Amino acid sequence: ETIGGNLRRTVAEHGEREALVEMASGRRWTYTEFGAAVDTLARGLMARGIGKGDRVGIWAPNCAEWTITQYATATIGAILVNINPAYRTHELAYALNQSGVRLLVSATEFKTSDYRAMVEQVRPDCPSLEETIYIGTPDWDVLLAMAEATGEDALREREAELAFDDPINIQYTSGTTGFPKGATLSHHNILNNGYFVTELIGFTADDRLCIPVPFYHCFGMVMANLGCTTHGACMVIPAPAFDPKATLQAVQDEACTGLYGVPTMFIAELGLPDFDAYDLSSLRTGVMAGSPCPIEVMKRCVADMHMAEVAICYGMTETSPVSTQTRRDDDLDRRTSTVGQVMPHVEVKLVDPATGLVVPRGETGELCTRGYSVMLGYWDEPDKTAEAIDRARWMHTGDLAVMRDDGYVNIVGRIKDMVIRGGENVYPREIEEFLYTHPEIADVQVIGVPDRKYGEELCAWIKLKDGAEELDAAQVREFATGKLAHYKIPKYVLLVDDFPMTVTGKIRKVEMRAKSVELLG
Ligand code: ATP
Ligand code: MG
Repeated sequence: ETIGGNLRRTVAEHGEREALVEMASGRRWTYTEFGAAVDTLARGLMARGIGKGDRVGIWAPNCAEWTITQYATATIGAILVNINPAYRTHELAYALNQSGVRLLVSATEFKTSDYRAMVEQVRPDCPSLEETIYIGTPDWDVLLAMAEATGEDALREREAELAFDDPINIQYTSGTTGFPKGATLSHHNILNNGYFVTELIGFTADDRLCIPVPFYHCFGMVMANLGCTTHGACMVIPAPAFDPKATLQAVQDEACTGLYGVPTMFIAELGLPDFDAYDLSSLRTGVMAGSPCPIEVMKRCVADMHMAEVAICYGMTETSPVSTQTRRDDDLDRRTSTVGQVMPHVEVKLVDPATGLVVPRGETGELCTRGYSVMLGYWDEPDKTAEAIDRARWMHTGDLAVMRDDGYVNIVGRIKDMVIRGGENVYPREIEEFLYTHPEIADVQVIGVPDRKYGEELCAWIKLKDGAEELDAAQVREFATGKLAHYKIPKYVLLVDDFPMTVTGKIRKVEMRAKSVELLG
């Protein structure tokens, strides 16, 4: 099935139900109206000359038009290129040129960013870019008016030419470990993944999902948007970019039953001084993914946000994205100490990166996955594709994991983040979890810094709770002594206000390492 075909089926079944709500503008669409808006834009894009396989870029914060563009491009078999709204001219030009975008759909401005000026600046360096259509300007209306020139029949003919394994989306990875790579995904990849993520949390057409996660990333576009439209559930956009207050307000006002987020978003919501003022009693479920969730945060999500069924997912852009997920009736232990079990119709194995042999249960290995969810490849980077996907179609994730006897998977960290101190392998995650139990510590990240004697030493970046006393390295070491093996106790402590993050809310440890070296001299 294609994404356009799937949406048509939902429209036929749930036409009268609400599909999309944009809180910032108060605009609302039923599935019938949403399907019509998608068809109009699809026909407009065809009239504009967009063919099957042509690249259409989108560069905007979350808004209704983003979603409509997502479905319209898939309906006509164009390839949507998601461009991170935090990108600036250098990165924008890279994405436009790397994927060969012909038409760009863009915001005009947001907060202090003048997107229009930035597009103008890069245009001379982007030969493939023919035109930019700005959302919310007359350009957009002109594009929609062009729909007249393409009849319903022409649209149906185009749809009949599409295959479920055609590429329809290029998503650049978060760039946590280096320069982003363009994961190329098909209808089959992301439609199935979106479906199974919400199937496992028991979504139905009665559910309403609050979506503060970015659409340009698979978390928003696949797990949230496709997760909703495959089930006839309603997508609620609380704000253009993450805002903890707007998120809780939307949950309350729209009686949302589900809420998505990366752990740092839940931490921000739970930390609002007026948290208790929001009525969150409609919440039942949600998804937390992207990075490990501290146990204390998970406990509060269950106790204070009513999200007893919240799922933990693990995945990556290259795998559409989810490979493992907890199940509805899992207990707190499984939700806090694992990332769930393997998704339906997906294979997972853990191998020793040195030998390529499968490791026994309970031992650490690189997580490899195979199945419908593995991307077609990195756009125009055959060498990087061959490094990531082996000849038997296994995707090598670069993540270290352990599989328990019950089949639940525990992510230990990235191969690149593992610290080797005096010959001992140290997984920063374990130390972060431990330090998080310190009463004065609000958030903590641990990295390895070069050391002449031991190869690497551990350095903890610590955010203190409001009003907490100062904390120095000696006090942190004292807290850990007797509880952690000596080689796992951080030598250095840096007190910080923030961690360097990607816009998907992930900590950039590469940058932290460089900064630590600078700060520690
Ligand atoms: P890049 O590949 O460009 O360096 P990235 O890997 O962060 O960036 P994404 O595809 O957005 O880009 O993120 C996937 C990665 O996020 C996974 O490979 C894994 O390391 C991490 N991750 C995802 N979910 C979880 C989770 N539940 N627990 C721990 N880590 C997770
Ligand atoms: Mg990655």
